[in-house]
Amino acid sequence: MAQSPCPPTLEAVGPGKEVRVVRRWSEQGVPFVKLAVPEIGSEVDYSVRRLAEDNGATFAVLELAPGWPGAQAGHRSLVRIADPDTVRTLTTDDFNQVVVRCGEVLAGEAACSVPDAEAVFGAMPDWLSPEFRAQEKPLRAESEQGREIRCFHCEKPIADAEAACPHCGRSRLAPRCPRCGGLVSPERDKHVYYADENGYYPWHHAWDGRCASCGFEFVARLVIETGHAPFLASNDHHAQIEQWKAEPTLSHPFAGFSRLEIRGAESVHMVCDLWDYQPTIEVRIQRAVAANAGEPAGSLTKEARVVMTLAEWRAVIENLQGPLRVLMERKPWTRDTT
Ligand SMILES: [Zn+2]
Ligand SMILES: [Zn+2]
Repeated sequence: MAQSPCPPTLEAVGPGKEVRVVRRWSEQGVPFVKLAVPEIGSEVDYSVRRLAEDNGATFAVLELAPGWPGAQAGHRSLVRIADPDTVRTLTTDDFNQVVVRCGEVLAGEAACSVPDAEAVFGAMPDWLSPEFRAQEKPLRAESEQGREIRCFHCEKPIADAEAACPHCGRSRLAPRCPRCGGLVSPERDKHVYYADENGYYPWHHAWDGRCASCGFEFVARLVIETGHAPFLASNDHHAQIEQWKAEPTLSHPFAGFSRLEIRGAESVHMVCDLWDYQPTIEVRIQRAVAANAGEPAGSLTKEARVVMTLAEWRAVIENLQGPLRVLMERKPWTRDTT
């Protein structure tokens, strides 16, 4: 179990001991539980990796996040589930018997799904789902009452009504929507200690990616002329020309095309109970034709997905508009070897 001091340490819970499940939820399709041993005042978050049935009892393999510092990263524990709120550590004999009887399931590749974990631990709503937010909102509002709100940046106490921090002057508001001019979210940046967690919550900490004022979804879905052309990839030229006639988005029968989807996403890294959220931009690309020669990794593929942080995208954009601009001046070309 984790002790709060930094660096965190794991403290072994003896065999046959009860440990309480004090919270349950899912993040990006992975079920999580927070375990607590009140006597030693420690808590730790585990993901639920496997479930196995044996003699009418259910056992779970719980795993520490891979980001845990030191040798305990990825540490796994096998526990018996007593009830949705309680797990029990195993004696060495119990452990050996379960491993012998359920070894295949426990060592298998198939990760435990959220519905499977919910059947054992009860509802595990996604932390960012509208259901979870609706359920948490009154609790949060109650929990927030009388709690001190601090500035996201300078950490000095502020009143929640402030649109900007009176100490450092930074705005606490969400950006304005380029479409309607309203705030895209009513939330404000803040540092808060809730009853069950604390952290730096920006205006987008539980945002659904839509403008709260007009509903516009900040996702671009585009079809652009680029890449290898279907016409060049097939002997059936007549059919390709017919297809081009039927496809009004293409201006030329020799045009390839790519479908792009550009959207905001988030990457999550967890160490002990510290959840680190990095905003990302995700680009999904579907191309008409994949390359048929050259190094597969460096060539155009039918489908691609690129996820980068905002700083990484900014570096790419700045370089392509600046020192590497000549790379953008190149054109597609062909040669005929018949
Ligand atoms: Zn401030
Ligand atoms: Zn709007």
